[in-house]
Amino acid sequence: MPSVLTNRTLLEPKSVADALKMLREEGPLVPMAGCTDLYVALNFGTLRESRFLDLWRLRSLRSIDVRRDTLVIGALTTFTDLIRSSVIRRRLPMLAAAAREVGGVQIQNRGTIGGNVANGSPAGDSLPVLAAADAAVVLASAAGTRRVPFTAFYTGYRQSVRRPDELIVAFEIPPVRGRQYFRKVGTRAAQAISKVVIAGVVPEGRAARREPVRIALGSVAPTVVRASRTEAALAAGAPIAAAQRTLAEEIAPIDDIRSTADYRRRVAANLLALMLR
Ligand SMILES: Cc1cc2nc3c(=O)[nH]c(=O)nc-3n(C[C@H](O)[C@H](O)[C@H](O)COP(=O)(O)OP(=O)(O)OC[C@H]3O[C@@H](n4cnc5c(N)ncnc54)[C@H](O)[C@@H]3O)c2cc1C
Repeated sequence: MPSVLTNRTLLEPKSVADALKMLREEGPLVPMAGCTDLYVALNFGTLRESRFLDLWRLRSLRSIDVRRDTLVIGALTTFTDLIRSSVIRRRLPMLAAAAREVGGVQIQNRGTIGGNVANGSPAGDSLPVLAAADAAVVLASAAGTRRVPFTAFYTGYRQSVRRPDELIVAFEIPPVRGRQYFRKVGTRAAQAISKVVIAGVVPEGRAARREPVRIALGSVAPTVVRASRTEAALAAGAPIAAAQRTLAEEIAPIDDIRSTADYRRRVAANLLALMLR
C-alpha cells in the first residue's frame, strides 16, 4: 500500500562536509533534523519535495559550548538537550524556559533548535529568545560559512536568507546581561502553539542606565518581531502605559484559528507590563 514515504529518497551523510557536498552536488534536497515539523507536512500532503537529507546522525551539530565568551549552540541540539544543559540554564535561562514549553516530552526529545528556526513559523518558541539575545545564525555551504544577525534572518512569512545549498549549523549568542524573561500564552500548558510569545532582557543595577531593554515577540506578525520602537520609547523614559501603546502599534497580529488580533494585541501589552514590573 502506498504511504507518505513512497517514492521518496533519503540521503544519509556521514559528516557535515559530506552533507554540504550532497547539497551542492545532488540538490535540491530537503534537510531533515528531528522531523517533527516535516512529518506533519508529509502526512498532510503539503510537502511536494521528494528528496531528503538526513542530518539526525551528525553528532557534531549537537553541541552546547562557550567559545571566547560566546555561547555556541549546534543546530541539531534538541529541546531536551537545552533543558538539561547547566550552561543554558546559567547563560540563557529564557531559552531553557522556552524549550520546556515546546510541545510535550516526545517533541522535546526530537525537535531541534535548528529545525525550529529553519521552519520559520512566527509561533516558534525559540525565535523570540534568539531575537532578544542578539543571536547570529551560522550558515554553512560547500563554499564556506557566513553569519547573519538573527533579526535579519527572516525576509517574510516562513522565508529566510538561507540558500538551498546552505545548512544552519549553529547559533552564536554573546553574553546577555540583565534579567531574562520568557512567557508563552497558549490554549494549555503542553502541546499548544502560542497565541502570543514574548522574550526579553531587562538590564539591572548600573547597566540599567546604559543598556536598553530588549523585547521580542512571536505570533504577532508574519515573522518574529524585535520591538525596536518600544525599546526606544522605554530608553527615552516612556512610562509603561506609553510603551504598551507603542507595542500595540508596532505589532501586526491577525485573526486566525488560535486567536484574534485584538486579543493578541491586548495580551502582548499585558506581557510587556509583566516583564517590566
Ligand atoms: C505535536 C507537536 C507539537 C509542537 N509544539 C511546538 C511548540 O510548542 N512550540 C514550537 O515552537 N514548535 C512546536 N512544534 C513544531 C516543531 O516540533 C518544532 O518547530 C521543532 O523545533 C522542529 O525541529 P525538527 O528538528 O523536528 O525539524 P524538522 O521537522 O526536521 O525540520 C523543520 C524544517 O527545518 C528544516 N531544517 C531542519 N534543520 C535544518 C538545518 N540544520 N538547516 C537548514 N534547514 C533545516 C527542514 O528542512 C524543515 O523545513 C510542534 C510539533 C508537533 C508535531
